[in-house]
Order: sequence, then structure tokens, then C-alpha cells
Amino acid sequence: MKVELENLFSIDESSQDQVINVYNRHGIAVGAPEIKKRNLKTKFNPIFTLNEEITYEHVTALYESLERELGIVSIGERFYFEFSEQEYKQAPLFTLNSTGNSPEMFVEDKGTLFSLSTHCKSCGLMAKEQLSPIVIDTSQMKDRHLVHVSGYWVASQNLVSIMKQENLGGYELLEVIHQGPEEGKQLAYQIIPTQILPSCSSDRIKLYFATEQPPCSCGLNGVINGPDIYHRKDLSNVQGDVFYAAEWSHDGRYLYRKTLFSKRFREAIIRHNISRDVRGEKDSNFGPKDWLFDPVLIQ
Ligand SMILES: [Zn+2]
Repeated sequence: MKVELENLFSIDESSQDQVINVYNRHGIAVGAPEIKKRNLKTKFNPIFTLNEEITYEHVTALYESLERELGIVSIGERFYFEFSEQEYKQAPLFTLNSTGNSPEMFVEDKGTLFSLSTHCKSCGLMAKEQLSPIVIDTSQMKDRHLVHVSGYWVASQNLVSIMKQENLGGYELLEVIHQGPEEGKQLAYQIIPTQILPSCSSDRIKLYFATEQPPCSCGLNGVINGPDIYHRKDLSNVQGDVFYAAEWSHDGRYLYRKTLFSKRFREAIIRHNISRDVRGEKDSNFGPKDWLFDPVLIQ
């Protein structure tokens, strides 16, 4: 697995060489950036790999130099995790990061009932418990097979048929409530995993944005989790195709449990032409309806 960090900021074109020099001096090789001119500013977005030689501490020092020497303060950051062929092959489970490179994979919640409670007093993260079926305008799903509704996955009738045909197990279905126009409405089902996985390995990498506030003491807000990593023995008795993670995830406001899917599930999705085989979000196969599964790492 490879961790890449993308930086994004705007500079005057004339200071481009100086910026490259600062990166190089910190041991980060930066090629000629792709120049995207907008007015007088040049967009600068180098991507480099983090490893033993270039750690996140190096990057923090780099940002200090960029600020001190060139007055560059607002640096956007984005992490990418890249997996090897071997890691895709060996993974028994996958996390589903997206069901399409398109905002249409998200459907708005139209009034599902939840009970809310404060999980962290410092950052205000809330825990929520679902009290009613999910309420959405199902006509917005159109011909999508799986959409994301405030932390939950909602499947089309067609996808449910395929899951049954493929004998995929480990979930219950809860029909959603349609609210919206009659035209185009359809049956749709929330997929509710019936099992929670054992805890992740403590070796899972945790990153944070050097340019933002330090992570909250609850260990959730401000922390960017690396890929899920499990001990082989912890998964040896696990059966089924859909699971909740033991750890909490959050969307900045609410906690939720991430859903993980089996290798069989991923293969069925590709075999039935629901999605192409996508390897990471920079893969040219990642189109508006393709599913982005990341393999879990095994140790
Ligand atoms: Zn917190």
C-alpha cells in the first residue's frame, strides 16, 4: 500500500522555481507542475509519496518553510491510498468508498427518524440511532443500484435480486419509505449488516491535516484513517458478505459504522456489469456509476 499526498495552492507564476526549490530542499522531488492558469495565479498541485524517507513530519517542516519564505499559507491537502495487485488478490474484505464518481450517488434524507446524543463534548460529534425506515425520494435513484443516504446504503430491487441470486448473506433488508412524486418511484431497500467485525489492527495508520486544527481528543474528528487493517486470525471465522466495522466513522457531524463487503460481493458486482473493476479514485475506470472498493490489509 502506498500513501500519496497531494498539495494544492496558488502561486504567482514567477515564484514557481522558488517553490520547487523549497520542496527539493526538503527531500521531496517535485517535477514540473501541471500549469493551470487562472488570471495571474498558477495552480500548483504536486503529488508525492509518503514513506520512511518522506514522513508527515517532513511535510509539516516543508509547510513551515513555504510560509516563512514565500508567504504561502493555505495549502490544500488530499491523501490517496494505492494498493498493489497482490493486496487486491489477498483481501477477503473491501470497504466501499463510492458507488460512482458523481454527486448522484448521494440521495437526500427526507425525514428518517433518529434519536441523537452527544458523543464528544469537545468537537460536538453526535451519535444517532435509527428509529424508522429511511425516507427518501426513490425516483432520484433512477437506474442506480446503490445510493448513499446519510451514512447508510440503499439498494435497488435489481441489486437485491442479484444479491439473492448470488447467495450473498449477512444482511437484512428494510424497505425505505418513498416521499416524492409518484412518477419514477421505485422499491428500494436499506442494507443492514447483521454482524459487526472484530476490531481493526492497532497498526492502522492515522493521518491528520497539518494545515488544520490538531485532531480532537476523541480520536475521531480531524483524524484521517488509513485503510482498514486486520489480523488474519481475527477474520478466519468470519462468514457472510456484508459487515459493520467495529470502529466508528463520522461525516464531520454524526457517527456511523462503515459497511464492509466480501470479495465475493465485489466480484459479483463486476461480473454483473454493475461496475467496472476500479483500482483507486485516480483509475480511469472510475466513472459516474462505478464502485470504488478498497481492499482491507491483512497482517
Ligand atoms: Zn471529539
